[in-house]
Amino acid sequence: MNTTEITCPSGMILEGREVEIEDLKVFTDKRLAKQSVITGEAALADKLCIKVLDRGPYLFTSSKPPWGQEALYGDLFFFLVECRVFTKGKNYDFDVQCPARSCREMVPWRLPLDKLHVQELCEESREMLRRDENSCRVDLTRCGKTVYFQLLDGRVHKRQRKYVEEYGDDIHVIYAARLHKIEGDERPDFVRFVAKLHPDDFDELDDAIEDADCGLDSAFDVQCHKCDTIFADDLGISPGFFIESFSRRRKQKRRKERAARKRDSRGGSNSSDSTESATTNS
Ligand SMILES: [Zn+2]
Repeated sequence: MNTTEITCPSGMILEGREVEIEDLKVFTDKRLAKQSVITGEAALADKLCIKVLDRGPYLFTSSKPPWGQEALYGDLFFFLVECRVFTKGKNYDFDVQCPARSCREMVPWRLPLDKLHVQELCEESREMLRRDENSCRVDLTRCGKTVYFQLLDGRVHKRQRKYVEEYGDDIHVIYAARLHKIEGDERPDFVRFVAKLHPDDFDELDDAIEDADCGLDSAFDVQCHKCDTIFADDLGISPGFFIESFSRRRKQKRRKERAARKRDSRGGSNSSDSTESATTNS
Protein backbone atom coordinates (compact mmCIF):
# COMPACT_ATOMS: atom_id res chain seq x y z
CA MET A 1 0.00 0.00 0.00
CA ASN A 2 1.35 3.41 -0.97
CA THR A 3 1.44 5.92 1.85
CA THR A 4 2.48 9.54 2.18
CA GLU A 5 3.25 12.02 4.92
CA ILE A 6 0.81 14.93 5.07
CA THR A 7 1.38 18.06 7.16
CA CYS A 8 -2.01 19.59 7.93
CA PRO A 9 -2.59 23.36 8.29
CA SER A 10 -2.64 23.04 12.08
CA GLY A 11 0.83 21.46 12.08
CA MET A 12 -0.49 17.95 12.76
CA ILE A 13 1.39 15.38 10.62
CA LEU A 14 -0.45 12.28 9.39
CA GLU A 15 0.47 9.24 7.38
CA GLY A 16 -2.20 8.93 4.69
CA ARG A 17 -2.75 6.35 1.99
CA GLU A 18 -4.09 6.06 -1.54
CA VAL A 19 -7.84 6.00 -2.03
CA GLU A 20 -9.38 2.65 -2.98
CA ILE A 21 -12.79 2.20 -4.57
CA GLU A 22 -14.18 0.54 -1.48
CA ASP A 23 -13.40 3.66 0.60
CA LEU A 24 -15.97 5.64 -1.37
CA LYS A 25 -18.78 3.60 0.17
CA VAL A 26 -18.93 6.36 2.78
CA PHE A 27 -20.73 8.51 0.21
CA THR A 28 -23.50 5.98 -0.41
CA ASP A 29 -23.82 4.81 3.17
CA LYS A 30 -27.41 5.75 4.01
CA ARG A 31 -26.77 5.77 7.73
CA LEU A 32 -23.93 8.31 7.30
CA ALA A 33 -25.80 10.33 4.65
CA LYS A 34 -28.66 10.80 7.06
CA GLN A 35 -26.30 12.47 9.51
CA SER A 36 -24.47 14.79 7.09
CA VAL A 37 -21.92 15.23 4.36
CA ILE A 38 -19.32 16.05 6.99
CA THR A 39 -19.86 12.72 8.70
CA GLY A 40 -19.09 11.03 5.38
CA GLU A 41 -15.96 13.13 4.98
CA ALA A 42 -14.89 12.34 8.54
CA ALA A 43 -15.46 8.61 7.94
CA LEU A 44 -13.35 8.77 4.77
CA ALA A 45 -10.53 10.67 6.51
CA ASP A 46 -10.58 8.05 9.26
CA LYS A 47 -10.11 5.26 6.69
CA LEU A 48 -7.33 7.10 4.84
CA CYS A 49 -5.34 7.98 7.93
CA ILE A 50 -2.85 5.18 8.69
CA LYS A 51 -1.40 6.84 11.75
CA VAL A 52 -0.65 10.11 13.50
CA LEU A 53 3.04 11.01 13.17
CA ASP A 54 2.75 14.27 15.14
CA ARG A 55 -0.36 15.57 16.90
CA GLY A 56 0.73 19.17 16.37
CA PRO A 57 -1.18 21.47 18.75
CA TYR A 58 -3.89 18.90 19.59
CA LEU A 59 -4.13 17.06 22.88
CA PHE A 60 -6.14 14.01 21.78
CA THR A 61 -4.90 10.60 22.91
CA SER A 62 -6.77 8.44 20.38
CA SER A 63 -4.75 6.64 17.67
CA LYS A 64 -6.53 8.60 14.90
CA PRO A 65 -7.51 12.29 14.84
CA PRO A 66 -10.93 12.96 16.38
CA TRP A 67 -12.53 13.98 13.07
CA GLY A 68 -16.03 15.24 13.72
CA GLN A 69 -14.98 16.23 17.24
CA GLU A 70 -12.13 18.56 18.20
CA ALA A 71 -10.09 18.11 15.00
CA LEU A 72 -10.43 21.23 12.84
CA TYR A 73 -12.39 21.04 9.61
CA GLY A 74 -9.51 22.86 7.89
CA ASP A 75 -7.28 19.86 8.65
CA LEU A 76 -9.95 17.35 7.57
CA PHE A 77 -10.58 18.99 4.20
CA PHE A 78 -6.87 19.51 3.51
CA PHE A 79 -6.06 15.90 4.41
CA LEU A 80 -8.71 14.55 2.00
CA VAL A 81 -7.51 16.80 -0.84
CA GLU A 82 -3.90 15.73 -0.26
CA CYS A 83 -4.88 12.03 -0.30
CA ARG A 84 -6.65 12.69 -3.60
CA VAL A 85 -3.55 14.43 -5.02
CA PHE A 86 -1.40 11.51 -3.84
CA THR A 87 -3.75 9.01 -5.49
CA LYS A 88 -4.55 10.73 -8.79
CA GLY A 89 -2.27 13.74 -9.23
CA LYS A 90 -2.67 17.45 -8.69
CA ASN A 91 -5.19 18.25 -11.43
CA TYR A 92 -8.90 17.84 -10.85
CA ASP A 93 -10.93 17.78 -14.07
CA PHE A 94 -14.68 18.16 -13.90
CA ASP A 95 -17.64 19.78 -15.61
CA VAL A 96 -19.64 22.62 -14.18
CA GLN A 97 -22.75 24.21 -15.63
CA CYS A 98 -22.63 27.85 -16.73
CA PRO A 99 -25.21 29.74 -14.63
CA ALA A 100 -26.06 32.28 -17.37
CA ARG A 101 -29.72 31.72 -18.17
CA SER A 102 -29.26 31.99 -21.93
CA CYS A 103 -26.28 29.62 -21.92
CA ARG A 104 -26.34 26.68 -19.45
CA GLU A 105 -23.31 25.20 -21.21
CA MET A 106 -21.43 22.42 -19.38
CA VAL A 107 -17.97 23.90 -18.92
CA PRO A 108 -15.06 21.46 -18.66
CA TRP A 109 -12.73 22.82 -16.01
CA ARG A 110 -9.34 21.88 -14.62
CA LEU A 111 -8.52 22.87 -11.05
CA PRO A 112 -4.84 22.58 -10.08
CA LEU A 113 -5.26 21.41 -6.49
CA ASP A 114 -1.67 22.29 -5.61
CA LYS A 115 -2.33 25.95 -6.46
CA LEU A 116 -5.15 26.43 -3.93
CA HIS A 117 -4.16 28.79 -1.17
CA VAL A 118 -3.50 27.11 2.18
CA GLN A 119 -3.83 29.11 5.37
CA GLU A 120 -1.86 27.64 8.21
CA LEU A 121 -3.22 27.85 11.71
CA CYS A 122 -1.84 31.00 13.37
CA GLU A 123 0.31 30.78 16.50
CA GLU A 124 -2.44 32.22 18.75
CA SER A 125 -4.88 29.52 17.67
CA ARG A 126 -2.23 26.80 18.10
CA GLU A 127 -1.51 28.05 21.62
CA MET A 128 -5.21 27.94 22.36
CA LEU A 129 -5.53 24.29 21.24
CA ARG A 130 -2.48 23.41 23.34
CA ARG A 131 -4.43 24.75 26.33
CA ASP A 132 -7.35 22.51 25.29
CA GLU A 133 -9.49 25.57 24.60
CA ASN A 134 -11.52 26.74 21.64
CA SER A 135 -12.62 30.33 22.19
CA CYS A 136 -11.48 33.47 20.35
CA ARG A 137 -12.57 36.99 21.15
CA VAL A 138 -13.33 39.93 18.91
CA ASP A 139 -14.39 43.48 19.82
CA LEU A 140 -17.05 44.78 17.46
CA THR A 141 -16.59 48.52 16.95
CA ARG A 142 -20.09 49.67 15.97
CA CYS A 143 -22.11 47.90 18.66
CA GLY A 144 -19.27 48.10 21.20
CA LYS A 145 -19.69 44.46 22.21
CA THR A 146 -17.10 41.79 22.81
CA VAL A 147 -18.10 38.42 21.42
CA TYR A 148 -16.45 35.00 21.56
CA PHE A 149 -16.45 32.53 18.69
CA GLN A 150 -15.03 29.07 18.10
CA LEU A 151 -12.75 27.60 15.45
CA LEU A 152 -14.54 25.34 13.00
CA ASP A 153 -14.12 21.85 14.42
CA GLY A 154 -16.44 18.86 14.11
CA ARG A 155 -18.60 19.97 17.01
CA VAL A 156 -19.13 23.49 15.66
CA HIS A 157 -20.02 21.93 12.34
CA LYS A 158 -22.71 19.87 14.05
CA ARG A 159 -24.03 23.01 15.70
CA GLN A 160 -24.16 24.80 12.33
CA ARG A 161 -26.25 21.94 10.98
CA LYS A 162 -28.64 22.12 13.91
CA TYR A 163 -28.98 25.89 13.53
CA VAL A 164 -29.66 25.61 9.79
CA GLU A 165 -32.38 23.01 10.43
CA GLU A 166 -33.96 25.23 13.04
CA TYR A 167 -33.50 28.75 11.61
CA GLY A 168 -32.93 28.25 7.89
CA ASP A 169 -29.92 28.23 5.59
CA ASP A 170 -28.91 31.90 5.92
CA ILE A 171 -25.48 33.44 6.21
CA HIS A 172 -26.22 35.00 9.62
CA VAL A 173 -27.38 31.61 10.92
CA ILE A 174 -24.11 29.95 9.85
CA TYR A 175 -22.12 32.68 11.63
CA ALA A 176 -24.34 32.63 14.69
CA ALA A 177 -23.47 28.96 15.18
CA ARG A 178 -19.82 30.00 15.56
CA LEU A 179 -20.55 32.23 18.56
CA HIS A 180 -20.63 30.90 22.09
CA LYS A 181 -20.56 33.99 24.27
CA ILE A 182 -21.52 37.67 24.18
CA GLU A 183 -20.03 39.73 27.00
CA GLY A 184 -22.64 41.08 29.39
CA ASP A 185 -25.41 38.93 27.99
CA GLU A 186 -26.52 36.10 30.26
CA ARG A 187 -28.94 34.48 27.82
CA PRO A 188 -27.67 35.43 24.37
CA ASP A 189 -29.73 34.88 21.25
CA PHE A 190 -26.88 34.43 18.76
CA VAL A 191 -29.03 34.19 15.65
CA ARG A 192 -30.83 37.45 16.41
CA PHE A 193 -27.57 39.09 17.45
CA VAL A 194 -25.83 38.38 14.12
CA ALA A 195 -28.97 39.16 12.13
CA LYS A 196 -29.07 42.65 13.68
CA LEU A 197 -25.37 43.45 13.23
CA HIS A 198 -24.24 46.49 11.26
CA PRO A 199 -22.45 45.32 8.07
CA ASP A 200 -19.17 46.79 9.38
CA ASP A 201 -19.42 44.70 12.54
CA PHE A 202 -20.26 41.64 10.49
CA ASP A 203 -17.13 42.22 8.39
CA GLU A 204 -15.10 42.57 11.58
CA LEU A 205 -16.47 39.28 12.86
CA ASP A 206 -15.82 37.59 9.51
CA ASP A 207 -12.22 38.88 9.39
CA ALA A 208 -11.56 37.69 12.94
CA ILE A 209 -12.96 34.23 12.16
CA GLU A 210 -10.93 33.99 8.96
CA ASP A 211 -7.71 35.04 10.69
CA ALA A 212 -8.18 32.51 13.48
CA ASP A 213 -9.12 29.54 11.27
CA CYS A 214 -7.01 27.44 8.93
CA GLY A 215 -7.39 25.37 5.77
CA LEU A 216 -7.59 25.36 2.01
CA ASP A 217 -9.32 28.18 0.20
CA SER A 218 -11.84 26.09 -1.73
CA ALA A 219 -13.37 28.97 -3.74
CA PHE A 220 -12.31 29.60 -7.33
CA ASP A 221 -13.56 31.30 -10.51
CA VAL A 222 -14.63 29.54 -13.69
CA GLN A 223 -14.98 31.19 -17.10
CA CYS A 224 -17.50 29.79 -19.56
CA HIS A 225 -15.83 29.01 -22.91
CA LYS A 226 -19.05 29.74 -24.76
CA CYS A 227 -20.37 33.03 -23.36
CA ASP A 228 -17.32 34.20 -21.31
CA THR A 229 -19.37 34.56 -18.12
CA ILE A 230 -17.13 34.33 -15.06
CA PHE A 231 -18.73 32.64 -12.07
CA ALA A 232 -17.68 31.44 -8.64
CA ASP A 233 -17.54 27.78 -7.70
CA ASP A 234 -16.50 25.92 -4.59
CA LEU A 235 -14.56 22.68 -4.31
CA GLY A 236 -16.57 19.96 -2.63
CA ILE A 237 -15.66 16.40 -1.72
CA SER A 238 -17.79 13.92 -3.65
CA PRO A 239 -17.25 10.50 -5.31
CA GLY A 240 -16.58 12.35 -8.59
CA PHE A 241 -13.62 14.04 -6.88
CA PHE A 242 -11.93 10.63 -6.76
CA ILE A 243 -13.41 8.69 -9.73
CA GLU A 244 -14.06 10.22 -13.13
CA SER A 245 -16.30 7.32 -14.12
CA PHE A 246 -18.88 8.66 -11.67
CA SER A 247 -19.47 11.47 -14.17
CA ARG A 248 -21.17 10.25 -17.34
CA ARG A 249 -19.78 13.11 -19.41
CA ARG A 250 -16.24 12.47 -18.19
CA LYS A 251 -16.69 8.81 -18.97
CA GLN A 252 -17.79 9.56 -22.53
CA LYS A 253 -14.79 11.84 -22.97
CA ARG A 254 -12.41 9.16 -21.72
CA ARG A 255 -13.95 6.66 -24.11
CA LYS A 256 -13.37 9.06 -27.01
CA GLU A 257 -9.79 9.66 -25.95
CA ARG A 258 -9.20 5.92 -25.69
CA ALA A 259 -10.64 5.39 -29.16
CA ALA A 260 -8.41 8.16 -30.55
CA ARG A 261 -5.34 6.62 -28.95
CA LYS A 262 -6.22 3.24 -30.45
CA ARG A 263 -6.57 4.82 -33.88
CA ASP A 264 -3.22 6.56 -33.50
CA SER A 265 -1.44 3.40 -32.44
CA ARG A 266 -2.77 1.61 -35.52
CA GLY A 267 -0.60 3.90 -37.63
CA GLY A 268 -2.55 7.15 -37.61
CA SER A 269 -3.93 6.67 -41.14
CA ASN A 270 -7.00 8.72 -40.27
CA SER A 271 -4.97 11.79 -39.37
CA SER A 272 -7.65 14.47 -39.76
CA ASP A 273 -9.83 12.67 -37.21
CA SER A 274 -7.17 12.32 -34.55
CA THR A 275 -6.06 15.95 -34.93
CA GLU A 276 -9.61 17.02 -34.34
CA SER A 277 -10.01 14.98 -31.17
CA ALA A 278 -6.64 16.21 -29.89
CA THR A 279 -7.83 19.81 -30.28
CA THR A 280 -11.12 19.12 -28.51
CA ASN A 281 -9.31 17.53 -25.59
CA SER A 282 -6.77 20.24 -25.02
ZN1 LIG B 1 -21.96 30.29 -20.62
